[in-house]
Amino acid sequence: MDKQPDSRYHQAMSTTVMAMHISSTQTDGDRISLIDPFNRKIEYLRLSVTDKCNLRCFYCLPKHFKDFEQPAHWLTFDEIERVIGAFADLGVAKVRITGGEPLLRKDLPVLANQLSQLRGIDDLSLSTNAVLLSRQAQSLRDASISRINVSLDTLKPERFTQITGGKLQPVLDGLMAAKQAGFAPIKINMVAMKDINDDEFEDMVDFCLEHDFTLRFIETMPVGDTGIDASQHYLNLKQVKNKLADQYELIPGVMPGGGPARYVQVKDTNLRIGFITPISQHFCETCNRVRLSVDGTLYLCLGQDHKYELRPLLRQGISDDGLKNAIVEAIAIKPEKHEFRSNPGQVVRFMNMTGG
Ligand code: SAM
Repeated sequence: MDKQPDSRYHQAMSTTVMAMHISSTQTDGDRISLIDPFNRKIEYLRLSVTDKCNLRCFYCLPKHFKDFEQPAHWLTFDEIERVIGAFADLGVAKVRITGGEPLLRKDLPVLANQLSQLRGIDDLSLSTNAVLLSRQAQSLRDASISRINVSLDTLKPERFTQITGGKLQPVLDGLMAAKQAGFAPIKINMVAMKDINDDEFEDMVDFCLEHDFTLRFIETMPVGDTGIDASQHYLNLKQVKNKLADQYELIPGVMPGGGPARYVQVKDTNLRIGFITPISQHFCETCNRVRLSVDGTLYLCLGQDHKYELRPLLRQGISDDGLKNAIVEAIAIKPEKHEFRSNPGQVVRFMNMTGG
């Protein structure tokens, strides 16, 4: 693969930029950046390696959903490597492997190894429900994945089954295996839901304090019609923060990070708590990411339909420069923002398809 941006390539890029006037690449020394039409630097790719999941969280995927992408359409590891290599050449340094449930993809550590060796990729992370993590933690850590996010909405076994249809214990085992394997940080992602888990925020804080995990709360988003109206459980995270502030002294403004979470620290501890508020306080103006689905579709926004198909190009034998041009073209259609609030029924795509 041609990993070295050369002058021919720069020329191709400026031609594209001039032709479209709406997205561009910038250079800083020998580093290129992808700039979208709203002047946001795109430096983060979420890579879905499967749309399948071994849980059925009621707010994410309908219970009997089976309409998964056919294996012939899955990007192969080599195709994924090409696409990520092209993004890396365009200045994208951060990749998060997600799904569906990424640990269901066979030989994931092999792919992680391939990606971690790409020049320019300096942050490879994973989002998982941890059901299968206890057996894979060490090999994933050995494959240079350093940071891991684990979804966990409750510490109560029965409630876990009600929310996800699965069992809690394997997830806890997976978390302990991740700790043992040396992932740092390990972040717990908890979707905060009224009448579902709003009596457990302090318990989750204590759990994270005990195990040295970072805790992040997420607002429920209207993505896909799962058959259950999750919006009735929507909770503005301001309420969660206020509730926690009654009990803990929260120091604001720590850990700015590259993502959407706004963090506080619990005084006299190492615990950081992040609040991800796509609904009450959206963060689209700082959006730095795009998503690649298992079938090679580039989704430009979690909450909009704007997309660009890369698989046909890959399978028609597109050149490396052509692939980079296609990515620049795709970035040109990245929309300004989602419309979760003004148009909540709009996103018909389930989270597992886009790569959550
Ligand atoms: N299976 C992996 C996991 O569990 O982390 C990765 C994919 S999962 C779709 C990614 C995240 O999306 C999880 O933390 C999940 O809770 C969150 N999620 C799914 N549907 C959501 C919704 N409607 N609102 C908010 N978060 C959602």
